[in-house]
Amino acid sequence: MKCKKCGRKAVVNLKAYGISLCEKCYPEFYKNLVKRSIKRFGILNQDERVLVAVSGGKDSSAMAAVLKELGYDIELLYIDLGIGEYSKVSEKVVKDLSENLDAKLNVVRLRDYGFTVDDVARRMRRKTCSACGTAKRYIMNRFARENGFEVVATGHTAEDIVSFYIKNVAGGAKVWAEKLMPRNEPFDEKIVARAKPLFEMSEKENMLYVLIENIPYTPMECPHAPKPEWKEIVYEIERRKPGFVKNFVRGLVRPAEEFEETRYCKICGEVASGEICAFCRLKEKLTR
Ligand code: AMP
Ligand code: ZN
Repeated sequence: MKCKKCGRKAVVNLKAYGISLCEKCYPEFYKNLVKRSIKRFGILNQDERVLVAVSGGKDSSAMAAVLKELGYDIELLYIDLGIGEYSKVSEKVVKDLSENLDAKLNVVRLRDYGFTVDDVARRMRRKTCSACGTAKRYIMNRFARENGFEVVATGHTAEDIVSFYIKNVAGGAKVWAEKLMPRNEPFDEKIVARAKPLFEMSEKENMLYVLIENIPYTPMECPHAPKPEWKEIVYEIERRKPGFVKNFVRGLVRPAEEFEETRYCKICGEVASGEICAFCRLKEKLTR
């Protein structure tokens, strides 16, 4: 396997793009993908102060590193949720990340508000993940506003968005459009804009970037997280249909086509997308 760009020995094979790359060319390729995505979907502006929410996992570490590389004005925010050993390991990792990137790290502790996620888990077991989500969103928004950041960036990936969508549609729930969008503008002055700079990137691409660039991250998972069944279904579809995740997530965010006036077929009068309907065009061909 040879690198498509320079011919050296390839270390990665990206099925979604049908190319192989070496360890010199891959980071450049990844950076360009993120840059293009940010530009095309207006996810961040070059002159904003960006608060990058980092968990210590590969996706948000990759995000912080690539935004720094692309020249954004960033600071990091780590929320200590008080999840036993997991929170301690994660905090150590984001400290390393902060030094590695030369980006300021801010730490906010949920404990300072009087409780931890471990308390939630003990007292209201089944609500743990949604309570944790509530706490994170609250702290991210409040910290960003009080410290003059224009936008909060999270490391949500294409798989996060696709599995969230499928899970909700399959469960008959309404799908909140904000959770699927690459950027949400504030609807009130107390709300800070939210951005997902990696919404088109896959977990594998983020993983390769942190590994090749030696960016600190931990593979540790939250002990309260449920089995990611929908994610596994999404991985399986991607395995069988390479490119599925990217096509799906792009389809979700494409702006709805302009509403057009209904047109009628010149020959038969039925509804048509052009001058003549598809059926009459077919009939013409076959009966000529
Ligand atoms: P999750 O909600 O765990 O799927 O994480 C989604 C995104 O939220 C991550 O990519 C991070 O950007 C952010 N995030 C998760 N946990 C934390 C944390 N403890 N501190 C700061 N940001 C976090
Ligand atoms: Zn190369």
